[in-house]
Amino acid sequence: MSDRPDLPADTPTDLWIDGHALPSVSGARFDVADPATGGVLTSVADAGVADASKALDSAVAAQSRWAATPPRRRSEILYRAWELVVEHTDELALLMTLEMGKPLAEARGEVAYGGEFLRWFAEEAVRIGGRTTTAPSGNGRILVTKEPVGPCLAVTPWNFPLAMGTRKIGPALAAGCTVIVKPAEDTPLTMLLLARLFRDAGLPDGVLSVLPTLDSAGVIGALMADSRLAKISFTGSTQVGRILLGQAAHHVMKASMELGGNAPFIVFDDADIDAAVEGALAAKMRNGGQACTAANRFLVHNAVRERFTAALADRMDALRVGAGREDGTEVGPLINERQRSRIAALVDDAVASGAVVRTGGKAIAGDGWFYAPTVLDHLPTDSDILAEEIFGPVAVITGFDTEDEAVAAANDTPYGLAAYFYTRDLDRTLRVSAALNAGMVGVNRGIISDPAAPFGGVKESGLGSEGGSEGIAEYLTTKYIALTA
Ligand code: ADP
Repeated sequence: MSDRPDLPADTPTDLWIDGHALPSVSGARFDVADPATGGVLTSVADAGVADASKALDSAVAAQSRWAATPPRRRSEILYRAWELVVEHTDELALLMTLEMGKPLAEARGEVAYGGEFLRWFAEEAVRIGGRTTTAPSGNGRILVTKEPVGPCLAVTPWNFPLAMGTRKIGPALAAGCTVIVKPAEDTPLTMLLLARLFRDAGLPDGVLSVLPTLDSAGVIGALMADSRLAKISFTGSTQVGRILLGQAAHHVMKASMELGGNAPFIVFDDADIDAAVEGALAAKMRNGGQACTAANRFLVHNAVRERFTAALADRMDALRVGAGREDGTEVGPLINERQRSRIAALVDDAVASGAVVRTGGKAIAGDGWFYAPTVLDHLPTDSDILAEEIFGPVAVITGFDTEDEAVAAANDTPYGLAAYFYTRDLDRTLRVSAALNAGMVGVNRGIISDPAAPFGGVKESGLGSEGGSEGIAEYLTTKYIALTA
């Protein structure tokens, strides 16, 4: 199949191993689709176990030299990579829009956000500390140093093709670790272009490899079984996270997991309702709802519920749905037909059991995998859609009467990634922030991601943090040196 005319001619489509673009050992390739049309964009090399083993050999060979590279030099390379990402905003954004579907404006926003992890960790690379104290007994000194964990594997999802990679690559390189990235099969192109930008920034060969593959289970399974791999960092479903944690257990490998969410969004009766509607729209519709931090359940005080629901339904109904590369598009397609059918089934099931459709409620006919922005009200409390991560443009609303009831409902999930609430009461702000079982809490705002803040979940939403000063700690080990003097 020939490449689409709007795909830049120099788009990288080979594996990236040891500083070189290479076909796979088997010669296999797989198609990358455009979710806005359902057609094929291009094909990329399909890595197998033999390619993974070459990538790990190169990561292991490069590890000690990279760890010994002065932190200032590692910082300069990361900083230059950030500059190159910003300089290539148009190219990166177009690739993301074509392979993932998000509107160009959002793709440009992701370039800024994703690139910022490289600048942030360029700044952290030269601030890796340690500590020393005199032993309390007076008998010698305690010296604590931080060392890179070693070669890392980063497995990333399709929803933020750039940022989910830079959030792992940035701290790994800053800490002195080499990295192999396995991007999602739906969106390999952005990460391959990033690898080329890193080469242009002066990153030595072998420090970063990128392995698109259709055989994630086989390729990742082989890497995880190799004791030379020191760490896995994964962003994706809780289901796959469990598999990887099981594999990590074998060599007692260090693991960071950013898994699924089921974020509650609570609107109290003292909230600024207009602001809450805007926040709800942002928390629900960023990336068309395809974010693990997306508001999944709206819990709205019954005194303000109708006003909030009517306003949100109006705003959702007015959103312009279309191909991401068209001017004015506010909501793109879903990533693939499988996701669209899954969401349609959840909505149909809710409606069959009594939910009321305030807007949307159906797939959009024609090419591509579009689903209408939807608001559902009056959900039975046992609806599957309240328990599952929706990952699409569907807002579901339930009512409550007391704060305790709202907090209990918000926490009634095995997940604990993001939670949001709107209130104008300071005491309630502190009380509810403390009571929510979530790794991240947004107060009177619908967007919380920030490269300078620790992103992470509790319960079945994950282990560890990405971003902030906490992010680099995931790639460092602690060594205690006992000194007599
Ligand atoms: P999503 O539902 O968002 O696609 P997944 O958890 O299925 O999330 O995918 C996230 C990443 O994990 C992708 O890069 C995918 O290819 C990869 N993946 C899927 N299954 C496995 C597996 N068995 N082992 C390792 N990686 C996997």
